[in-house]
Amino acid sequence: MTPTRLSMNVSANAKRTVLVSGAGISGPALAYWLSRSGFAVTVVEKASALRDSGYPIDIRGTAIEVVRRMRILPQLQDAHIHSHRCTFLNADGSELAVLSPDAVVGNVGGQDLEVRRGDLGAILYATVRDDVEFLFNDSIDTLDQSGQKVDVAFRSGQQRTFDLVIGADGLHSRTRQALFGPEAQFHRYLGYCFAIFTMPNSFGLSHELMMWNAPGRAAALYAVGAEDELHAFLNFHQPAPPLDALRDPDAQRNLVATTFAGAGWAVPGMVNAMRDADDLFFDTAGQIRMPHWSSGRVALVGDAAYAPSFLTGQGSSLALVGAYMLANALATNRDHTAAFAAYERDVREFVAMNQALVDNGAATLFPTTVRALEQRNTMLRGLATMPSATTRPAHSALTLPEFASTP
Ligand SMILES: Cc1cc2nc3c(=O)[nH]c(=O)nc-3n(C[C@H](O)[C@H](O)[C@H](O)COP(=O)(O)OP(=O)(O)OC[C@H]3O[C@@H](n4cnc5c(N)ncnc54)[C@H](O)[C@@H]3O)c2cc1C
Repeated sequence: MTPTRLSMNVSANAKRTVLVSGAGISGPALAYWLSRSGFAVTVVEKASALRDSGYPIDIRGTAIEVVRRMRILPQLQDAHIHSHRCTFLNADGSELAVLSPDAVVGNVGGQDLEVRRGDLGAILYATVRDDVEFLFNDSIDTLDQSGQKVDVAFRSGQQRTFDLVIGADGLHSRTRQALFGPEAQFHRYLGYCFAIFTMPNSFGLSHELMMWNAPGRAAALYAVGAEDELHAFLNFHQPAPPLDALRDPDAQRNLVATTFAGAGWAVPGMVNAMRDADDLFFDTAGQIRMPHWSSGRVALVGDAAYAPSFLTGQGSSLALVGAYMLANALATNRDHTAAFAAYERDVREFVAMNQALVDNGAATLFPTTVRALEQRNTMLRGLATMPSATTRPAHSALTLPEFASTP
């Protein structure tokens, strides 16, 4: 059938439809910018509600400009954690150094932000929930790009068709797996495993971090406020990823307990609390490095495409900047192939610079040998008397273009 002039105009003016998989950080940020540039956006999230886990994340450098342009900077400044101090402890629990948190992570005081991840997620969600369709408790089952668009079958049984699909579904992205194959090809293991969980604040800690180190082992307690709850973190060196434990929570608990047996300070109490915790999160520290971030009408953003690992403290910032740049590329180029190419071209170097921060982060916070720990301790004693850093090339290496209007 030959299309009439009317039907051609209708299809030219119809909103382009995008499905975003994942309502973490990059998903809602992308949804905001796409919706602003005229896309009809649906976000599917496998959890039944927004995840409100409260571990602290940083927003720095170029990402600060993204949240300023989203007009959520004041809310994030209100949510800023304002940690007072970071106390480093020796293996026997004695005090090594007390530092300003900004000096430890290289934040610029008064500019960079540290907020609970749940607060950032909730603020992002509030900016888009009235303009974007959210499907909670569902996920993509299959993607079919054999036609003109992307046919999506959801776990719930729903079938829909979208112009584009974006995977914002995190480090262990199922969209990436469906598009490019198993994670192992892209995952760069960094030699550490970690367990995070909450436990009672029986130490009276308030707005502060305590970090205990022995070679290859670290334990931290983080009081993000003066609440009754602490974020506990046990990190340890493991030459090869413990693949069996990754699939078995009991094996994870046993591995952590064995690794930290005989440790000093509050570590035995932390291990006991981990055994009882109902919110234990165990994973390996790793990065995602991919040669391409898109295939056909499907692309990846945030941790799904280029997770830098918590050792860089840049995951949320890359997610925010990547979402902005991807949306801007799609707003600038009506052709999705050109848009995805522009996104990669303009963001890849920024990603590489930030992923490269991992070496400093690991060496500073988690030395694996006696000698490396001694060198780290000497450096920390020096930091206690030095002004904190004011320049961070990697964090600020990308200058954001003005956001384009839809072509
Ligand atoms: C212990 C720890 C500490 C960290 N510390 C910092 C820090 O200090 N600074 C920092 O910047 N970053 C930090 N990060 C990293 C930061 O949390 C991530 O880099 C950032 O959240 C990435 O955002 P994202 O939206 O790409 O992915 P995520 O935040 O992981 O969001 C992915 C979303 O997709 C959903 N999802 C997953 N699979 C599916 C599916 N199949 N279908 C639908 N939805 C799905 C998930 O439920 C989630 O809501 C830390 C991470 C961890 C684990």
